[in-house]
Amino acid sequence: MEEKNIFYKRKYEYLKSFINNEKIPNVFLFYGEKNNPSLELIFDFLKTLNCPNEDTFCDKCHQCKMLNQLIHPDVKIVFPEVSTTSKDQNEDNLKSFCKLFLKNKRLNIDDWRKEIKSGNKQLFISKEIINKIIEFMNIPPVVSKYHVTIIWLAEFLNINAANSLLKILEEPKLNSLFFLTTEDLNKILPTIQSRAVKVSVNIEENKILGNEYFDQFMSLMRMSFSLDFEKLIPFIDVFAEMDKENIKVFFEYCTKLFEILLKFIIKIDENIGLDVEKQEQLLKFSKFLDLEKINILLKEFSECNYKISRNANIKLLFLNLAIEINKIIKSN
Ligand SMILES: [Zn+2]
Repeated sequence: MEEKNIFYKRKYEYLKSFINNEKIPNVFLFYGEKNNPSLELIFDFLKTLNCPNEDTFCDKCHQCKMLNQLIHPDVKIVFPEVSTTSKDQNEDNLKSFCKLFLKNKRLNIDDWRKEIKSGNKQLFISKEIINKIIEFMNIPPVVSKYHVTIIWLAEFLNINAANSLLKILEEPKLNSLFFLTTEDLNKILPTIQSRAVKVSVNIEENKILGNEYFDQFMSLMRMSFSLDFEKLIPFIDVFAEMDKENIKVFFEYCTKLFEILLKFIIKIDENIGLDVEKQEQLLKFSKFLDLEKINILLKEFSECNYKISRNANIKLLFLNLAIEINKIIKSN
């Protein structure tokens, strides 16, 4: 997992917590724009679930290998196809899908259209395919505890298929797991959405949380210092659109930066793992702080983190936070 970014790791940890708590929901719905990592996450989750390696996965055992090659007998994957697809073609499509998936786990609908040369023909997931899932679930799992159905791009379910699926999701068998993905949440029946644990895999969020963490922190500090509401409000709006999980990640990151600031102030000289430019920005900011102020700020941020878990209003929370930061930094 070394090469995966903090956003991905955070999502993976979130999914893994269901395994660790032994409470795995029957239905997950992953949503995010094109080229999101939903399939990658689903397979990492399934490997963690099935691999004998405790706590994570090894990529070497039989279970992991079957999952990596998309040939696990207890995992069925469905995807949009053209209406005239015959049984043989469906099998060919499955091979094509595997091929594409092995090349690029973040494939999108355009990649898929190209692969199956569907041209302008309409693609969808039919009721017949959902019926096959029902058959599949009636046979006990072969080598693992769960039957897994992955519906890639569930916005392509036609209405009959969606209704059939809904019936299964309303009373899922204990040992069945469903992973739906979509690039357009608005096209998923609300009744399906309400059955699922939703997982946001938005790349935009990823960008903010990956590369722009630091900039976001500095912006928050600057805007709070000047209490410039004209800049502050649109800045806060970005957070209001984000997943709560990710706002928590942001707060945790802020906490880490405060700890670094603490080290600057008490002049502990060590490698803090930031590049020179960022270090200099922090060093400048540290002139406005002292030990006591940092302690109060740390408390303030940990309280915000707590409030997020208690479903606080994000906009109000950030506004209050900005006002508090202003007071703390400017106090004597
Ligand atoms: Zn393994």
